[in-house]
Amino acid sequence: MKYPKIRELVEAIKAVIKGPYTSKFPQEPHKPHPNFRGQPKFNDNKCVGCLACEEVCPASAIAHRDIIDDKENPKRVMIHYTDTCIFCGECEAACISNHEGIKLSNDWELSFFDRKNDSYETIEKELQLCEVCGEVIACKDHLKWIATKIGELAYSNPTLYLSRLRSLGIIDENIISALKDQGRSDRVKILCARCRRETTLTTKE
Ligand code: SF4
Ligand code: SF4
Repeated sequence: MKYPKIRELVEAIKAVIKGPYTSKFPQEPHKPHPNFRGQPKFNDNKCVGCLACEEVCPASAIAHRDIIDDKENPKRVMIHYTDTCIFCGECEAACISNHEGIKLSNDWELSFFDRKNDSYETIEKELQLCEVCGEVIACKDHLKWIATKIGELAYSNPTLYLSRLRSLGIIDENIISALKDQGRSDRVKILCARCRRETTLTTKE
């Protein structure tokens, strides 16, 4: 007769005292280990819409769309595709917002019935348009983030300091110029790089 080894006996006694290693899923919800790398989730309050995560994602699981919503507000929709994500964490590592704009969670339950509608998550960020030509410059939160990051240097750039003052509610929201003539009066406006160059180098009086 073959007797159990001491190690096996110890394991058996531990299992009797502590209970089985396996969980009773699906009868009971499974609790993953705290270090489990589950699907990443956007944090609406921290994300500034900079697109760094989209740039580094090796699985193309992050994308964005710039839209005008029902109330005529320009928005950037950040999209995370849960069906193609490989949970590598590159997005969290690259996130400029203290790695908190998108973070791996320990959410592991990813099954769904309707792939077309249930395989992605989105958040929306407000966009800043050029006040002369209406082109997308960046998300408002991103401009605010840059202005805060560079401190008083932001006051050398009208786009940055106007964005900052508007976010603080000190000056009014933008009005897109009807004239689009890149004139002298357009210099102190929130402008895209092309309009900034044209108002600075080829200003009409
Ligand atoms: S965890 Fe990796 S694959 Fe998933 S969204 Fe982030 S970078 Fe892309
Ligand atoms: S702030 Fe972070 S989560 Fe948001 S777009 Fe930039 S890198 Fe992605």
